[in-house]
Amino acid sequence: MPTVEEMPDEATRTLRTRQPFLWLNPARRPAADALPGMLPDAAAIEAASARWQRFAPLLMALFPETVATGGIIESGLLAVPALQQALTGQSAEGKWFVKADHALPIAGSVKARGGIHEVLEFAEKLALEHGPIDLSSDYAALAAPPARQLFARYTIAVGSTGNLGMSIGVMASALGFRAQVHMSAEAKEWKKQRLRRHGVEVIEHAGDYGAAVEAGRRAAQADACSYFVDDERSLSLFLGYAVAALRLAEQLRQAAVAVGPQAPLFVYLPCGVGGAPSGIAFGLKQVFGDHVHCFFAEPTASPCVLAQMSQPGRPGITVYDLGLDNRTAADGLAVARASELAVRVMTPLLSGIFTLDDDALFRNLYLLHENEGIRIEPSAAAAISGPQMLLHTPAGQQYLKENGLEQAMANAVHLLWTTGGLFVPDEDYLGFLARGRALP
Ligand SMILES: *Cc1c(COP(=O)(O)O)cnc(C)c1O
Repeated sequence: MPTVEEMPDEATRTLRTRQPFLWLNPARRPAADALPGMLPDAAAIEAASARWQRFAPLLMALFPETVATGGIIESGLLAVPALQQALTGQSAEGKWFVKADHALPIAGSVKARGGIHEVLEFAEKLALEHGPIDLSSDYAALAAPPARQLFARYTIAVGSTGNLGMSIGVMASALGFRAQVHMSAEAKEWKKQRLRRHGVEVIEHAGDYGAAVEAGRRAAQADACSYFVDDERSLSLFLGYAVAALRLAEQLRQAAVAVGPQAPLFVYLPCGVGGAPSGIAFGLKQVFGDHVHCFFAEPTASPCVLAQMSQPGRPGITVYDLGLDNRTAADGLAVARASELAVRVMTPLLSGIFTLDDDALFRNLYLLHENEGIRIEPSAAAAISGPQMLLHTPAGQQYLKENGLEQAMANAVHLLWTTGGLFVPDEDYLGFLARGRALP
């Protein structure tokens, strides 16, 4: 009998060639069919949203940059007409927006949503158990000595390519926890330095992201007062990300942007292990059902979620198994094996995944700067190829046709989720721009 190796499916064959392409998810079902009975559910997102509200006074006290938004960590919804014009010319249909998570305070990336939420959830559990607060307290009390002495007895640990570590490390340390971040090889030096400045212990590993997670998991298991944030499985991270959907729905309402049968919403999300984009996409499906179409973006060198979703019969498949090297300038997306939770939840909900190479990332990063003056990191630039992959590939055309969307495209909303960039040092950013500018 032939093995899977000898009989790769079409997606696997294309992944091996490293050619960028758009994969359509054959397992997607109508939202009304897929969502009922699924766990987590909409109530879990509401609970996470309520937790953010309870913590708002504390966040204002600890991070003055959140005072303007009442202690809520949220990003803007920005129209990007000049970018749209530059990439589509006169044929421009629909409306393009950037969801500006590159500017999220405290963490400077989408990880502010999931990572900070999980730290707050753990802190809340401890504080409720040991008494400094109850659910109706003003949580600003958690900045006072009794709570800080409690938190100081615990270590919060995480494995990261950089950005998750920045969100967890900075928040854990601000609350008074000991914070430990296990960094993979591609983590940037400036991210390590920023963490150390915040009092975080940075442990460097020569291996990839999976190895850093494994090392962190093991170290935490050996210590009863250590809490490990597990990016490959965490529900708390996932729900922190999902709250973004409720906030976005409100922003669209305020901007008078309708979403419905005649106005489909297309959302393009950079994807690493899959936690952030799947949490956000899950929330969006809860809010907008079949009127939202979610696509993930992965580097051609690290398409771990695409590899897993296109081969459900090979649980735990890595990009190395496909002969890929997981080496990309998109450090936030350099992940070899997908999150189980992300794959499980996305299997009936996700529209598709596209891949792109590093040149496309730098080109996108440069174009966003030239046309809109927006500064992002290479990982975040993955989203910008989304509309072209949908509108100008045979697979994208097929998707529009099969879903009866062709007539509605004039009113379509395309949302590019720019997931990081705020704290990139000038020197690094100028290098990114120069590389993008030099491309043909
Ligand atoms: C982490 C990250 C992502 C993807 O999130 P995952 O949960 O790893 O899929 C995307 N962009 C940036 C900038 C990130 O840091």
